[in-house]
Amino acid sequence: MSGLEARIRAEIERDGPMPLDRYMALALTDPVHGYYMDRDPLGAGGDFITAPEISQMFGELLGLWLADCWQRAGQPRDAILAELGPGRGTLMADALRAIGRAAPAMLEHAALWLVEASPALKAIQRDRLGGAGARWAGTVEDLPDGPLFLIANEFFDALPVRQVVRRGEGLAERAVGLTGGELAFVDAPLDRPLPYDTPELADGEVFELCEAGQETAVLIGRRISGRGGAALIVDYGHGVSAPGDTVQAMRNHAFHPVLSEPGIADLTAHVDFAVLSRAAAGEGAAVHGPIGQRQLLLRLGIEARLGQLMKNADPATADGLAAGFRRLTDPEFMGHLFKALAISPADQPTPAGFADEDAYSRNA
Ligand code: SAH
Repeated sequence: MSGLEARIRAEIERDGPMPLDRYMALALTDPVHGYYMDRDPLGAGGDFITAPEISQMFGELLGLWLADCWQRAGQPRDAILAELGPGRGTLMADALRAIGRAAPAMLEHAALWLVEASPALKAIQRDRLGGAGARWAGTVEDLPDGPLFLIANEFFDALPVRQVVRRGEGLAERAVGLTGGELAFVDAPLDRPLPYDTPELADGEVFELCEAGQETAVLIGRRISGRGGAALIVDYGHGVSAPGDTVQAMRNHAFHPVLSEPGIADLTAHVDFAVLSRAAAGEGAAVHGPIGQRQLLLRLGIEARLGQLMKNADPATADGLAAGFRRLTDPEFMGHLFKALAISPADQPTPAGFADEDAYSRNA
């Protein structure tokens, strides 16, 4: 039994069943045993792979999006260029290269900030991005004042969620308890008030609530509406709040039981983009989308970038580029399940890639 499992069992024996978000928080970011604390989970040798690790085109296009927003905002000199959960720093390294070509003044004027919980990943980020003057913060709240130009890829899915389940007239908290000596899901009384309403739930249906995600979107929306900037949040999930248990664990690129050996596998849940949108809009910011990752990348010009890179590529590199393009944009892979939400000041033009979507949501 892992050290973390022993601790979780002891806590359950002492306090009773543990709300799922507490279990996820311990499994992911406990300073001693948390999954993210001492490893690099990304890539072929790790547990999962992400868009920037698949192709340089992803980070380049997001970088150009940021540069465009910064230029349209009047090139503020006190801008904060920030990323949430930068992983290996690949996305930001690719983004900085693209920004350096398209808007070198942005690199000169913007301060680079990374929000990261993992000491192991921070060390990798320091190697990749230390030369670009990167600094680190623990949360969005700790970012210095200034117009905020922010990206986050697969950050919100790593935040702990609560689950509630309808039982007759009431709601129960889905919690981790001990059944027959093993960690198991059990019903418990609601641990605390719900941060927002659930949709209609049929008896036995589960709904997930991400308090940390909502709070982060509030902070981003408040900052962007008050100080300017723009944010692009890319993740997998749904655009409309819906019932369903989406918590999953991944290890070695395969599913792993959620309650087995906590701390050894990555734990994620689908992102509820409707909650993030409402949270940011409630602070006075404009929200756009979510649109599919496929739409986003096509609208930002991934085909042109692919063509450019193909020109100088040897056959093996060309195959890799084409495969990367397919994985990022094909609806069967990441094109549809992965979505992008943009947040911008209400008095600024709609950010690149999202203009048509506003017309759509006005009619919806
Ligand atoms: N964006 C990267 C990595 C995604 S993995 C990519 O696309 O490849 C999730 C990232 O979020 C990791 O860097 C992880 O350490 C970080 N993270 C997870 N939970 C966090 C939290 N609560 N606070 C800050 N960073 C967190």
